Amino acid sequence: MILLVPIGPIPIHLISWLEDKLGLYVDRPVKTGKAVPLPRQGYDEQRQQYTADAVMELLQGGSCPEAERIVGLIDQDCYSPDLNFIFGFAAVNDRESFVALPRLRPEFYELDENKCLVRQRVLKEVIHELGHTWGLSHCDNEACVMQFSNSVEDTDSKDTAFCQSCRAKIIP
Ligand SMILES: [Zn+2]
Ligand SMILES: [Zn+2]
Repeated sequence: MILLVPIGPIPIHLISWLEDKLGLYVDRPVKTGKAVPLPRQGYDEQRQQYTADAVMELLQGGSCPEAERIVGLIDQDCYSPDLNFIFGFAAVNDRESFVALPRLRPEFYELDENKCLVRQRVLKEVIHELGHTWGLSHCDNEACVMQFSNSVEDTDSKDTAFCQSCRAKIIP
């Protein structure tokens, strides 16, 4: 089972849509867990971003032994030491990962709101991070969800699904 964990406030429509759709792509049941508060540490006032480590620690500290994988969703901009910003982060071959929403929203780039587009982007990034937790690396296939996204344009142009070769590596 895959557990979605809202970290701080997350739009309900997004979570319930994700809970419905994600299972179709990852062949596992999906549930939403109780929301947890934002990390108490790890916020950089100057950057106005949370460190990925703080978010991961928060997820690793929660208990839910029956979850094969835990995916956090956070509506705060995040970074990791080697990247100015991240759409998501995963512990490779481990249980926890998360996706950060702000940069997946068109408003971040001064474009009009678009709920459907945001849902698709979040779905792709969640599947991408789950792929890392199952040991997948970035994929050169342009259509594959495991292709690295450096911008939302990259996210939009890739597919929601794993390519055949990635998929073959992670069949449950
Ligand atoms: Zn990646
Ligand atoms: Zn692939």
